Amino acid sequence: FRERKLIVHIIPFENRRQILVTHDVTETERTEMMRRDFIANASHELRTPLTVIVGFLEIAASEDLDAATRMAHLKLMTEQGHRMQHLIEDMLTLSRLESVDHPLRPEKIDTRTLLEQVLRDARALSSGKHEISLEMEDVAVQGNYDELHSAFGNLASNAVRYTPAGGSIRLSWSDSEKGAKFVVEDTGIGISPEHISRLTERFYRVDKSRSRETQGTGLGLAIVKHVLLRHGGNLSIKSEAGKGSSFTVCLPKI
Ligand code: ADP
Repeated sequence: FRERKLIVHIIPFENRRQILVTHDVTETERTEMMRRDFIANASHELRTPLTVIVGFLEIAASEDLDAATRMAHLKLMTEQGHRMQHLIEDMLTLSRLESVDHPLRPEKIDTRTLLEQVLRDARALSSGKHEISLEMEDVAVQGNYDELHSAFGNLASNAVRYTPAGGSIRLSWSDSEKGAKFVVEDTGIGISPEHISRLTERFYRVDKSRSRETQGTGLGLAIVKHVLLRHGGNLSIKSEAGKGSSFTVCLPKI
């Protein structure tokens, strides 16, 4: 959308003069296009697991399956059901974050509890496959605890999911001139430069199959972006393919 789309109205005026009224519809069209894309992507993402589930149900109804095969089918159907659940939860989270009826009611955040919870969740997800550490300075912010937990948690879980076993992940919370800084650094697969600016778009993934294998919905970074928007914060991403990434969140201090 580098070009702008203008609608021009020429209104006759007195003495053979005319008034030119321009109306910039670039933003309206962009929003409409994003809405259409979102619905198409979401439908596609939901259709895939549903097709698997219906396929297995049809087999179960038409064939006599031995117990082991039936168990294997049930396991696969359960996985696909969970995938749909995650996706719907993330879609609901995003729509709540965007809703004007859901204004932010900022409260002072207990950052120690929050970060220790993020660390625990990341360690549980990693199940001992990575070295995960947390460094903390005393710096206070305000906001919504659950939203910040979801944003920080998404960044930490991405670091685990995109770092092969044996790698390390560093979480840090520090005071900086620009604000309170939360950094997640990993020694994972990294991201090539051409993808970086698009990562917070809904359903944008560098590698779809890797994202799915690790229970990704493609909405995690879009959620992070929206939470930070509501908190007056921002996200910056540095990464090198094959070496690792660092995601830095900056939030206003109180
Ligand atoms: P997903 O559910 O696919 O992980 P996200 O919105 O959280 O969705 O991330 C979007 C994409 O950004 C991912 O699919 C992945 O390609 C890339 N990505 C996110 N975090 C990392 C990371 N720490 N290392 C490498 N790639 C990452």
